[in-house]
Amino acid sequence: MHLLEERIKKDGRVLSGNVLKVDNFLNHQCDTLLQDKMGEEFRRLFSGKQINKILTIESSGIGIACVAARFFNFCPVVFAKKTKTSNMSDNLYQTNVHSYTHNMENIISVEKGFLTESDNVLIIDDFLANGCAIEGLLELCRQANAKVQGVGVCIEKGFQDGGKKLRAKHVDLKSLAIIKSMDETNGTIVFEHLN
Ligand code: 5GP
Repeated sequence: MHLLEERIKKDGRVLSGNVLKVDNFLNHQCDTLLQDKMGEEFRRLFSGKQINKILTIESSGIGIACVAARFFNFCPVVFAKKTKTSNMSDNLYQTNVHSYTHNMENIISVEKGFLTESDNVLIIDDFLANGCAIEGLLELCRQANAKVQGVGVCIEKGFQDGGKKLRAKHVDLKSLAIIKSMDETNGTIVFEHLN
């Protein structure tokens, strides 16, 4: 998606550890017009799919997922929680996810009532690196017998293997921008486009 690529080039900052910081439009301050365009693009990319629920993971997937829902008939957005708060029931789907940015394990949870076998789910997240977050969300859908219609990612770091692993499993994965390489020393970011 050209608009997103241009914004990444303008405002993205390459940090050590292969981390791209996009906190002035996606991860801290949100550019809601850009998010709206991204939501519209997800709709175009998954235009053939019947989707009645969007699933994401807290926290940075929530913003884009809620904006995207506008283009999927304002369907509900469910976000997997990374901490089990006292007001959650024990009736949960849960799995373990390694966090890329925090380098720690999280148990992610969704209340069983919010993900069911009648759901046709689009999974959305801000970044795809090694694929642990998306694999965790797929596992929650598997536990719930929910049908995963596709996975939409804003920024895929193509030089890490999450995308390759998911596509090998025939997951219908669509990324709005795929980074082929990025260089911490001079800040260069190169994109790739899949056929
Ligand atoms: P994965 O689970 O695919 O290894 O990593 C994806 C998760 O880690 C995303 O939910 C995202 O929050 C975070 N993440 C991975 N790489 C980056 C990055 O380069 N920049 C930012 N801001 N978050 C990232």
